[in-house]
Amino acid sequence: MPAHASRAATLRTTLDRASYEYYVLDRPTLSDAEYDRLFRELQTLEEAHPDLRTPDSPTQRVGAAPVSALPKHAHRVPMLSLNNAFTNEELHEWEDRLVRLAGEDVRTAGYSAELKIDGAAVSLLYDDGLLVVGATRGNGSIGEDVTPNIRTVRDIPLRLHGTGHPRHVEVRGEIYYPFDLFERMNEERVRAGDPVFANPRNASAGALRQLDPAMTATRPLRFFGYTMVAAPGASLPVATQCEVLDMLASWGIPVAPHHRACATLAEVTAWAHELEHRIRPTLNFAIDGGVVKVDRLALQDDLGVVGGREPRWAIARKFAPDIAETRLLDIRVNVGRTGALNPYAELEPVEIGGTTVTFATLHNEDQIIAKDLRIGDVVQVKRAGEVIPQVIGPIPERRTGDERPWRMPGRCPVCNTPVVRDEEEVAIYCPNVLCEGRRLEGLAHFSSRGAMDIRGLSYARLEQLVNARMVHDPADLYLLTVEQVTSLERFADRSALLLVEAIAASRAQPLSRLLFGLGIRHVGATAAELLAHHFGTMDALMAAPEEDVAAVHGIGPIIARSVVSYFQDPVAQALVQRLRERELTMSEPQPAAADGALKGLTVVITGTLPTLSRADATALVERAGARVSDSVSKKTSFLVAGDAAGSKLEKARTLGVEILDEAELLRRVGR
Ligand SMILES: [Zn+2]
Repeated sequence: MPAHASRAATLRTTLDRASYEYYVLDRPTLSDAEYDRLFRELQTLEEAHPDLRTPDSPTQRVGAAPVSALPKHAHRVPMLSLNNAFTNEELHEWEDRLVRLAGEDVRTAGYSAELKIDGAAVSLLYDDGLLVVGATRGNGSIGEDVTPNIRTVRDIPLRLHGTGHPRHVEVRGEIYYPFDLFERMNEERVRAGDPVFANPRNASAGALRQLDPAMTATRPLRFFGYTMVAAPGASLPVATQCEVLDMLASWGIPVAPHHRACATLAEVTAWAHELEHRIRPTLNFAIDGGVVKVDRLALQDDLGVVGGREPRWAIARKFAPDIAETRLLDIRVNVGRTGALNPYAELEPVEIGGTTVTFATLHNEDQIIAKDLRIGDVVQVKRAGEVIPQVIGPIPERRTGDERPWRMPGRCPVCNTPVVRDEEEVAIYCPNVLCEGRRLEGLAHFSSRGAMDIRGLSYARLEQLVNARMVHDPADLYLLTVEQVTSLERFADRSALLLVEAIAASRAQPLSRLLFGLGIRHVGATAAELLAHHFGTMDALMAAPEEDVAAVHGIGPIIARSVVSYFQDPVAQALVQRLRERELTMSEPQPAAADGALKGLTVVITGTLPTLSRADATALVERAGARVSDSVSKKTSFLVAGDAAGSKLEKARTLGVEILDEAELLRRVGR
């Protein structure tokens, strides 16, 4: 094989492996930059030598030309639909039917229990391990050939991993959108002025049926495989459904998590309960139930299919629907702790999944406009697991003409300050640092465990203190006396004393906690720590120009602008001044160099480190007690080497000086 051919083969294998590790195993081993570099190298090679362009090359996921219509595809074996069980009783009735057909042994023959992904079913044909056709389910007998679109789905292997797969095999599964990627896509569409997608399932079916594969490629679709079908006359190298799932996984096909081999139906119902109540709320994709299958494939064949449509040996255990229709009575606005104005829906009470829902989130004004939501609309409301119910969208056909469009008020509904729209995002907020709407949430955040950590200051107690007009802002907390607190209802002497002591003790919290507790927009716990470590004192931070703040490693321009504009506000300045008068700690303890983990060592840093700037790495090493030197010598304790490390790395190797990467450095300094 000529050198460029073997290089192309190596690149294909490496890139394919990296995609699998990234998309299927969720354990990336190659950085994005490295992936892009190798991908471009392969592209260049293939352009120079078009004969090297194999159909399973990672470069061939995109680039097919649009078509004017989708060709039909006849399924060799029909794609069946499933019978449903809505209760455990119906599951038991199903098993009783199986027993009548195949005898008592069925009860102990074992079941495979799997998630029922709420997406779009597809069929993938692999010949000699190579993906040749991808088709939609269609009516079960005839679907549409969407091969170029299927190829753009990142976690579908273009070539099956391993060896020993049947010459012709069909893999069936479900295309879906992960919730987080779906949300992000919608946010981007809002920003681009495009209509948002209401429902991940409909959107995934639509994305698959695009005429232009380039369009599908922009959609973050993913795949889970759940079965395989042998070619006519051939048989599968497995005996049970559980083995099917294992084999699919070994071929590099993503398989949905949380499937279980159950010995009896009792185990199945226990699993289904756990799935509905405990697992479902944690999933990053939609399911509408579980699927229970007789595990043994031979027994499946014996049981057969009813009327060519529904297999007897499988059933869907459907969950209570998590979507309901109701009327949108009003749109109200609440003010969050950072001042963000959050619109929410007041609904005609409706039962969803056993709970009465009266309020639902509406995200932000742009989403309300994109969905064309109007007060008085009949809307679909979704409540998934423990998360806040959300309004999916209106049902425009149910409009009477009395519905009213809604716009975000121009002034804060609590303090009447004109609102501000954040340029960087879609949020609208009240800029008044002391807005009463923000007060309670802000105080709760200030006292929370990640911030000043004031024990015993619960939300309910804060509410009492605010209602009694004893506390208006965080500085007031430090003036509270035991007598004042005791005068409140439900406060015993002892708990009042403990509370006042806990508040006093919080004065010792370092600057990072205080910064986080102030609730500056975009400043989370991590950003607060970075700022506190870098500037050391409140004064230094308040005096820093925007470019200095933005230059801190890990702090971007958005956070920097937010921090600087916060401290420019006279109200915020006054608050900080009053906190200072209450003798709060306004500095960050810097670890004493003498006790550092690298005490007495001499360290050289070279090359570009993955996350730390040179200045940050130097500061880190010095804080740990070591001296940073510019040149490598025999006295060098170790060299920290990043990308593009040159002669210093060579020299360290020659002298036998220990060489660390950034991760190892961080480990040694205890980060
Ligand atoms: Zn306000």
